[in-house]
Amino acid sequence: MNCPYCGMDMEAGVIQSPHEINWLPKKHFFGRAEFHKGSIILSEFSYLRGSAAKAYLCRNCEKIVIDYKDGSCDLNKKNE
Ligand SMILES: [Zn+2]
Repeated sequence: MNCPYCGMDMEAGVIQSPHEINWLPKKHFFGRAEFHKGSIILSEFSYLRGSAAKAYLCRNCEKIVIDYKDGSCDLNKKNE
């Protein structure tokens, strides 16, 4: 993937967590997406495998891009 800011080639990698990985409109003490309208799940919670979302890094711009279209960034979903 090319960086949408500078156009350079981005490095593929993952963001991982033992918990669900999501985007929320703001920080909450209970951060599960199901409790918050407008939230986006980037990787569903998996007790056995942990959660991991595919992400692309641009070291030049110091930005990370996640393409979550149809849940494609969720590495748990991909393996099922
Ligand atoms: Zn860039």
